[in-house]
Amino acid sequence: MAAQMTDAHRRFLQMLMSRGIMEGSAARKAHRHCCEIYKVYYAHDKLDEFVGTINRHLQPLFMQVRKGMAEEDGSAHYALVNLAETEITKMASDYAENELELFRKTMDLIVFSENGYASSTEILNLADQLKTKKMKKKEAEQVLKVFVEDKWLSERNGEYTLHTRCIIEMEQYIISSYPDVARKCNICHSLAIQSQVCTSCGIRIHLPCVRKYFRAQTAPRCPHCNDVWSAEIP
Ligand SMILES: [Zn+2]
Ligand SMILES: [Zn+2]
Repeated sequence: MAAQMTDAHRRFLQMLMSRGIMEGSAARKAHRHCCEIYKVYYAHDKLDEFVGTINRHLQPLFMQVRKGMAEEDGSAHYALVNLAETEITKMASDYAENELELFRKTMDLIVFSENGYASSTEILNLADQLKTKKMKKKEAEQVLKVFVEDKWLSERNGEYTLHTRCIIEMEQYIISSYPDVARKCNICHSLAIQSQVCTSCGIRIHLPCVRKYFRAQTAPRCPHCNDVWSAEIP
């Protein structure tokens, strides 16, 4: 029998909606917390089932709680995904047209890059080329900051990549918008933005997946073409 949607499930969903994304450990804590408050059956290893119950009830609304992986460290994350919307409608209500254009162009830079990053200089150079309405560099800097705060981009030392939330929510959009460049990881089969590429056959593998997959191998070989894996194992 399928589990009932209880107040514990509803509370968990509210927490997820207000945060946008939850790290695995935060989600496990929230799971326990919600079950305890509403005196609902709790088992620490039943989070995915708990989420499955929520998802069955979200289905008619074209929404889904989706689990994804942070590309930096491989940790699990949960985000609420609206299956009926494209990237543009997801973000359209929150940003001006030229801000959306800057985001799309930033996404182009990141997806087309070798390593999954775009530098702030590259992005800020786009500001006065926007077709919708040009931006001053200062303005563009401010907009980038908001994209980071809103968890669409993440930044490290002046380099920008797509936030885990963005990848979980927009995976399908990115794969269909960049059919020639967007690739799935050969190991976990999720979209791979920050990844290593096989120099022989071109398959991509996430850095945490590289670490896990090649852990026991002294002379790593590509899982697809069996050629020597030339990138350094992180
Ligand atoms: Zn992977
Ligand atoms: Zn290969």
